[in-house]
Amino acid sequence: MLLSEIARDRGIRYFLISFTDLFGVQRAKLVPAQSIDEMAENGAGFAGFAAWLDMTPADPDMLAIPDANSLFQLPWQPDVAWMPADLYGVDGEPIMQTPRLVLKRMLKEASKRGYTIKTGVECEYFLLSGKEHQISDSRDRVVKPCYDQQALMRRYDVVSEICDGMLSMGWKPYQNDHEDANGQFEMNWNYSDALVTADRHAFFKYMVKSIAEKHGFRATFMPKPFANLTGNGCHAHISVWDSLGKTNLFLPEDVEGESELSTLAYQFIGGVLNSASALCAFTNPAINSYKRINSPSTLSGATWSPNTISYSGNNRTHMIRIPDAGRFELRLADGAANPYLLPAAMIATGLHGIDLQIDPGDRYDNNSYTDPLPSDKVKRLPANLLDALRCLESNEVFAEAFGKSFVASYLKLKYQQWNDYSNSITNWELDRTLDC
Ligand code: ADP
Ligand code: MG
Ligand code: MG
Ligand code: MG
Ligand code: MG
Repeated sequence: MLLSEIARDRGIRYFLISFTDLFGVQRAKLVPAQSIDEMAENGAGFAGFAAWLDMTPADPDMLAIPDANSLFQLPWQPDVAWMPADLYGVDGEPIMQTPRLVLKRMLKEASKRGYTIKTGVECEYFLLSGKEHQISDSRDRVVKPCYDQQALMRRYDVVSEICDGMLSMGWKPYQNDHEDANGQFEMNWNYSDALVTADRHAFFKYMVKSIAEKHGFRATFMPKPFANLTGNGCHAHISVWDSLGKTNLFLPEDVEGESELSTLAYQFIGGVLNSASALCAFTNPAINSYKRINSPSTLSGATWSPNTISYSGNNRTHMIRIPDAGRFELRLADGAANPYLLPAAMIATGLHGIDLQIDPGDRYDNNSYTDPLPSDKVKRLPANLLDALRCLESNEVFAEAFGKSFVASYLKLKYQQWNDYSNSITNWELDRTLDC
């Protein structure tokens, strides 16, 4: 069915042809339904240098070809539909810095090995007041605000509108709550095939920001917007299935046994742990990301984020948690993680672990916050973005999986960002150094 016909059936007047760049920014053209069929076939033109893609102003245009199988009619503005797009050059060649194409490439690698990948994400966010850098609800001040019923229901209008949107789009949302920081919320929907979840993740961020704006608030997924409060995690859950997506290969071979995962799952975890420092360049891509991980305790008593490269059972103080049989949770990622590069990076390291049958080593059940393990047992996570970028630069798994030129482009833009940050003189420095 042509998109113009879908538009007529569903009352869509405009289409947003949208792509996500390397820094996670969503960029779009708004195309009237009359022109969509031609645009869907030939692509919408963009100047690459205008986005974070490591292109120059002299490069020819790129064409964004929307994926019509992934159409989201905006629940808050139903005459508009959003479609994620993949980027191609005018010569028809794919532009490999496109995060969505990187994910597709990793899914192809998985499928060559006979695997389907399923993922789920938990995208925490704060509702800020529309104007200043402060939470929107001045009464939301208790020390332990997690699951706070009163504060949750003071934002019922926003939260229920977002949840209704997910219900109408068939995502199967199942719970919404106030999270561990004042002003913070989380909304959960069911896991799916990795590309479906990635598109929903991108759309969820757009939807939450838009509906919050409509109600006069500002939603933020920033990893650590307030130094004394718990940050915005983006925990990612993953399982590997057979080629039909029917049998979960992460379920333990011995159902009666102690283990909650299969050998395959432990090898996958082995790969993730092995490249964890480099993985941080994708799961924790902002300067601000490193103020969430490795952070001192927050007002609530816990950061709920990891500080070591380690895995555990149902224990929320480690980088990897095994909450249930047949899947694991990566607690490392934060709200700045690119919805496409996050799963792509997990899959790249996990498949490497499977290919090389990497042993994940010991599981630790200590409370990492109060009883940290000595550094000869577990390695610390990178201290800052520069540390993570250097680890990515020397990591061979990503060079192989994502391609050397992709990694070079990503590093180039991220090093530029680090240098830009380093050139700014902060209040912290002034307070401590003016009188030196
Ligand atoms: P928690 O807060 O305990 O970490 P949530 O319920 O907030 O858990 O989120 C769990 C996420 O994991 C959801 O998106 C859920 O659909 C997803 N999930 C559950 N089982 C699997 C699985 N087998 N593979 C991938 N994701 C899964
Ligand atoms: Mg123009
Ligand atoms: Mg959760
Ligand atoms: Mg949470
Ligand atoms: Mg979680």
